[in-house]
Amino acid sequence: MGLYQRPSELNEALALMAQGTWQVMAGGTDIFPARAHRAAWGNPMDANWLDITAIPEMRGITQAGGFWRIGAATSWAALRDAELPPGFDALREAARQVGGRQVQARGTIGGNLCNASPAADGVPPLLLLDAEVELASQGGRRRLKLADFILGNRRTARAADELLLALHVPAGPAQSRSVFLKLGARAHLVISIVMVAANAEGRVAVGSCSEVARLWGEGALTPMDDVRGTAAYRHAAAAELVARAQASLAA
Ligand SMILES: Cc1cc2nc3c(=O)[nH]c(=O)nc-3n(C[C@H](O)[C@H](O)[C@H](O)COP(=O)(O)OP(=O)(O)OC[C@H]3O[C@@H](n4cnc5c(N)ncnc54)[C@H](O)[C@@H]3O)c2cc1C
Repeated sequence: MGLYQRPSELNEALALMAQGTWQVMAGGTDIFPARAHRAAWGNPMDANWLDITAIPEMRGITQAGGFWRIGAATSWAALRDAELPPGFDALREAARQVGGRQVQARGTIGGNLCNASPAADGVPPLLLLDAEVELASQGGRRRLKLADFILGNRRTARAADELLLALHVPAGPAQSRSVFLKLGARAHLVISIVMVAANAEGRVAVGSCSEVARLWGEGALTPMDDVRGTAAYRHAAAAELVARAQASLAA
């Protein structure tokens, strides 16, 4: 059995991160199912858990200096229920569709980004918003564009001793009306086969059709065949969802 720490001070958490022996957990909705899967196959992950959810800087949504700031451990439920300008409608709709109410209550936006699944529903809406991520370690803080943070399937630019501290969204793109459409094998509690976020400025982002979600027109989609759908189906579904998103914004 590993150790468990839930510091309320960011500096304490960063000091633990510098030791290199702690595994970050936020809501645990990605990491614990993955752990259970490994354990079932004889490879238990006996980690020391660093729970970041009691650190005040990690929670909540605020506005200052021309940016919206979203703490990395802000839950989907908090995003879903927040009063935010229309540029966040796509992100709030994604929040309403992530898992069920229990997953929305526990799961965090930062966990979604750090897990870096191609099917992470938070990524397309945040690409539209030109979001930046803020990383913190004992060595200092740095900010990166979201597009430079997620490098591939389950790969990010986060160094081993860094925590994702917050997202920063410029106030400009946050004003533009936005929508989020998700196609799954059923209506609820489902991993996206394709998801699309679009805004009234004509920006469109597509997820689950390449290793990393991307803005429409910035590189070709490279969907794969898997149990949820073929590459050809994903191509067709993406085109249909983009058309529907644009029609809904034009209405
Ligand atoms: C039933 C079910 C349904 C789901 N449905 C959806 C869905 O519809 N759409 C979707 O996108 N996802 C879905 N998920 C996946 C998951 O709920 C989300 O990705 C969620 O946002 C993960 O957040 P978390 O806080 O639980 O992450 P955790 O499991 O706590 O962490 C995930 C990873 O990120 C790391 N991490 C977390 N926070 C930080 C941080 N601040 N700094 C550094 N590293 C960090 C952890 O070490 C871990 O590697 C579902 C999961 C379940 C169990």
